[in-house]
Amino acid sequence: MGRVSKGIKCSVIGCDKEAVRSLPIDKVTAAGLKVSGSRRAYLCKEHYKEYRRSPAVKREKMIERWRYRV
Ligand SMILES: [Zn+2]
Repeated sequence: MGRVSKGIKCSVIGCDKEAVRSLPIDKVTAAGLKVSGSRRAYLCKEHYKEYRRSPAVKREKMIERWRYRV
């Protein structure tokens, strides 16, 4: 997971901006983004922001926090 080499385009349908992040596609679709591809999704800066704002991701972050607190 993490950074993407230059020249890869965002996987969101209808978006052709340069990707900055790659994520497992199931997480991205769970966040409500429509992406094409099979295993990994590539997101541009704006869609990555949208992904991070999604309720599904926020919930996961909260669960992580609980885990670390113990
Ligand atoms: Zn995009």
